[in-house]
Amino acid sequence: MADPASSLGQDPKHLWQIITEKLREELPHQSFLTWFKPIKALSFDGRVLTLHIPSRFYYDWIEGHYNGHLKRAIKESLGGEIELAYSVDPERRTVSVDADAASIRARVIPPAQDRDRVSDNYLNPRYRFDNFIEGDCNRFARAAAMSLAEAPGKTPFNPLMIYGGSGLGKTHLMQAIGNHIVEHGRARKVLYVTSEQFTADFIKAIQSSRSDSFSRIYRKVDVLLLDDVQFFMAKDKTQEEFFHTFNSLHHAGKQLVFSSDRPPRELEGFNARLVSRLQWGLVSELRTPEYETRIAILKNRAGEAKIDLPDEVAHFLATHITDNVRSLQSALIHMLAQSTLIGRKISIDLARDVLKNLSNRPLQAVSVERIQDMVAKEFGIPSDLLRSKTRKKDVVQARQIAMFLSTEFTRLTLKAIGLHFGGRDHATVIHARETINEGVKSSRDMAEAVESLRHRIELTAL
Ligand code: ADP
Ligand code: MG
Repeated sequence: MADPASSLGQDPKHLWQIITEKLREELPHQSFLTWFKPIKALSFDGRVLTLHIPSRFYYDWIEGHYNGHLKRAIKESLGGEIELAYSVDPERRTVSVDADAASIRARVIPPAQDRDRVSDNYLNPRYRFDNFIEGDCNRFARAAAMSLAEAPGKTPFNPLMIYGGSGLGKTHLMQAIGNHIVEHGRARKVLYVTSEQFTADFIKAIQSSRSDSFSRIYRKVDVLLLDDVQFFMAKDKTQEEFFHTFNSLHHAGKQLVFSSDRPPRELEGFNARLVSRLQWGLVSELRTPEYETRIAILKNRAGEAKIDLPDEVAHFLATHITDNVRSLQSALIHMLAQSTLIGRKISIDLARDVLKNLSNRPLQAVSVERIQDMVAKEFGIPSDLLRSKTRKKDVVQARQIAMFLSTEFTRLTLKAIGLHFGGRDHATVIHARETINEGVKSSRDMAEAVESLRHRIELTAL
């Protein structure tokens, strides 16, 4: 394989420029600007290109979302492989970062054919038990994982099969097991691998008639952590190889840990014997985290990054993002990026913007009645006046604000909203919306009243 250093010289800026040109073609413009534009090349030692990034979050984010792009861009633009190291630039740092996290190294993982050493265990030191927050949703799986990490191959949890939806912590937990075992010397050879990688290695081995090297890697480990086995669905040959690997390792008393996005019995197209093997040990589910756990995860993550996350913002995020941990963290990271890049304060406003941009996810639905109650309370009038025929000035204004907020917070049609206000028609709702839109622009009092109501509705939208 070409040596990128010799063909391109040693200038780090030049190297990085070539890589980023490729990235710029591949990525949406905004993503490129946000995540790659602020990065500067610092040094290149012939093998490792060191990059300056504005904060640790960049590393996490890039690693989580753009690792594949980066790998490809390096390969395509340089025709070879180099390693990347990231370092947090102390001058431009607007969030403080732990001293020991100030320089983070990441390997760009080489393609399968270049990899036949078990010493590459693919463990990411960031995933640990101590930052895997415990809650009802994961207590059992976490406890099982910890006990087997203390004594791999010697507990009844063999195999341990962790299942659950995307972003609920399967990879984190598996990696934590691996890291714990390595750090405490509980086993010698630990290998974490995704099922895609397993499949790619297997296919490669067959194509190059080097199946011996495949077995050498996979059957000689003491602990095999195989992530996302649902990927084997409808892949007969790989499944078969997996089955043999399983038998050979299990027979030798080695520890096996698997994950899947569904329970074993729902793995379609899986050989029945394999399904039964997967259930030999312990099958444990990761569920969506409950509110308290979501808050704890947010606080912990913010703490790691030394971000001051106000309680109401944590509450706001935990209220609106309920499906998985990954999206919770994305929101936090986006907020941090925004506050770092354009100096916005971490607030509910910022959180709301981030949420809007992150997904088309509508905010939790609120009922019209609920909005009416809150507006009426704000105006100190009984809420049924909003549904009455009264044309008194302050009631009209309160009614218009309530209609306006109903168009914003509910998914009802204008017609349906009108019906909730004593059977008014949709033109009245449109008129209310326009009036308040104008009012917010021309009157500061109105703007503040609407804003404060918005906050309160969002906060109680449980
Ligand atoms: P999965 O593999 O199930 O799709 P991941 O393990 O990749 O999910 O988790 C997604 C993100 O959420 C990761 O950044 C992970 O660190 C984080 N995460 C998930 N569960 C927890 C938890 N209980 N405590 C702290 N972080 C978590
Ligand atoms: Mg995963």
